[in-house]
Amino acid sequence: MSAQLSVLVVEDEAPQREVLVYNLEAEGYHVQQATSGDAALDLAREDAPDLILLDWMLPEVSGIEVCRRLKSAPETRSIPVIMISARSEEVDRVRGLETGADDYVVKPYSVVELMARIRTQLRRVRPASVGEILEFGDIQVNSEEHRVFRAGAELHLGPTEFRLLTTFMERPGRVWSRDQLLDRVWGRDIYVDSRTVDVHVGRLRKVLRGATGTDDPIRTVRGAGYALG
Ligand code: CA
Repeated sequence: MSAQLSVLVVEDEAPQREVLVYNLEAEGYHVQQATSGDAALDLAREDAPDLILLDWMLPEVSGIEVCRRLKSAPETRSIPVIMISARSEEVDRVRGLETGADDYVVKPYSVVELMARIRTQLRRVRPASVGEILEFGDIQVNSEEHRVFRAGAELHLGPTEFRLLTTFMERPGRVWSRDQLLDRVWGRDIYVDSRTVDVHVGRLRKVLRGATGTDDPIRTVRGAGYALG
């Protein structure tokens, strides 16, 4: 099982925000809320949510501007953004403005459809969370069946090592800091010493190397963290 996925809801109107939060929590997401563009940008930078639902009509900084800023900053660029707008003409403008939003929903929207669109975006950025099979080189992870293979041989990983490997496999090449791995693998609300990360990466390496004898696919990036490949 992968760690809980997080969604940031950006909407200034309380009733609409509450509907979103209620439905997202019912689907099992960890939900954060922002009522202004500035608060949204701060939360996105600090907590790196897995997805952002962004209302077009916000006081001060508009949703469009928030989206543009999210998509121009390296640390938030890869977070999927679904824009919510009141009128279809606005959606046309969003498309025309090329703000980089990943999808658009028009109010009044169907909650069922919105949830489906959220899953579509998450499948793209967090494929293991929706049960896709991940492959990197000769390593294969089936997150639904919780099985890992290397060069065709099944490996047996502990639950933490499994989540670590899944995290690496979802974004090959990405360098993860120990703090980012703690958030992703252990969860945001749990206190774990960052040296624990090293211990579990060590265990994961041992199992992965055991399969082929020598090849270690995990790279230690001095002063930064770990990456796959
Ligand atoms: Ca609004």
